Amino acid sequence: MCAVRVARLVVHNDGEEPLELTVEPWAEIHEIPPKEACVVVTHAPAGDGDRPSTSYEDEPFEVDHRPDSVTVWANGHCFHICDREGNEFYPDDYGCPAANPAS
Ligand SMILES: [Zn+2]
Repeated sequence: MCAVRVARLVVHNDGEEPLELTVEPWAEIHEIPPKEACVVVTHAPAGDGDRPSTSYEDEPFEVDHRPDSVTVWANGHCFHICDREGNEFYPDDYGCPAANPAS
């Protein structure tokens, strides 16, 4: 049984230049090549109603956009940056509740 809630946000770079993607509050920077997409994933333990980075319910992500960069706030307990095939770009070092089921 998986007692972890998952939220996924797909970010497309539809421009001609690489797009800087910053994932907060971890300040992790990833560059998305032109015409490619990546997926920001965050996990939160089930039953834990509060997402730590927002006081509103059911807002797993917030996005700040600037002309040449985008900042994604992942309001779960961890983040992962993947491509759409699920290949992860960064190892998770942030206490992912999916990797460490309630123990
Ligand atoms: Zn995770």
